[in-house]
Amino acid sequence: MAAKVRVRFAPSPTGYLHVGGARTALYNFLYARHHGGDFILRIEDTDLERSTEESMRMQIADLKWLGLKWDEGPNPETLKDMGALGPYRQSQRKHIYQEHAERLVAQGKAYYDFRTDEELELIKEKTLAEGKNAQVETPAEIVPPAEAKKRMAAGEKAAIRYRVTERKDFVLNDLVRGEVRFPSDMIGDFVCIRSNGMPVYNFCCVVDDALMQITHVFRAEEHLSNTLRQMMLYEAFGYAAPQFGHLSFILGEDRQKLSKRHGATSCNDYRLKG
Ligand code: GLU
Repeated sequence: MAAKVRVRFAPSPTGYLHVGGARTALYNFLYARHHGGDFILRIEDTDLERSTEESMRMQIADLKWLGLKWDEGPNPETLKDMGALGPYRQSQRKHIYQEHAERLVAQGKAYYDFRTDEELELIKEKTLAEGKNAQVETPAEIVPPAEAKKRMAAGEKAAIRYRVTERKDFVLNDLVRGEVRFPSDMIGDFVCIRSNGMPVYNFCCVVDDALMQITHVFRAEEHLSNTLRQMMLYEAFGYAAPQFGHLSFILGEDRQKLSKRHGATSCNDYRLKG
């Protein structure tokens, strides 16, 4: 028997709910209802500088107004978690990301990176001069985890970076766009946990979608380019990847991405205008 359909809408509470986001939420909701599955709301609030509690409340109020009921996630009234696979706010899942990142380090698939921004900039310039994309390469010598921990205990800062070793094409069979091929050398080693201890979107997204047993990811087209990193992480963890469907942008009459120039873009504006 196929697994029960589980989809999610995962807004970042860094502003209002955009109509594009509302449409993504609607597609996920309808897909879940059509298949008798679950619709999950997950709040992606690891960007501490831009995320606000107020924005989360506003977005939840908009989703509620639209009549999109989620089965798991923050309760729309009390904001307390509903569901067995929470917490549903990424800011409350930091220990889970840390444990996952350390797992990759222990397996040699990721490493502590003590290089400074200036050093990384020079490396990127070098790869650019070689005719590649500006990307970060693995250092000649990786600091062993035990030594890295000692240096960090003494106050040094390090990011945890995923090591891209495999040179092959990753093939995505996107439910909307069909086959998309990503050569793995499009990207260099990428950060999982920043040196300030905060995990990055691509990392959290994979850990959460896997642990929350998400079967289908329907999201905006702008995330297509993130999917390569995410596919690498699924492989590294040995987690089955969900099916992806990248939804095209909502365009204005001039065929440009809908923006304020075209009028309202926030869900709440439409509500206010009746
Ligand atoms: N937090 C991301 C966003 O708001 C979610 C992307 C995703 O669905 O994977 O764009």
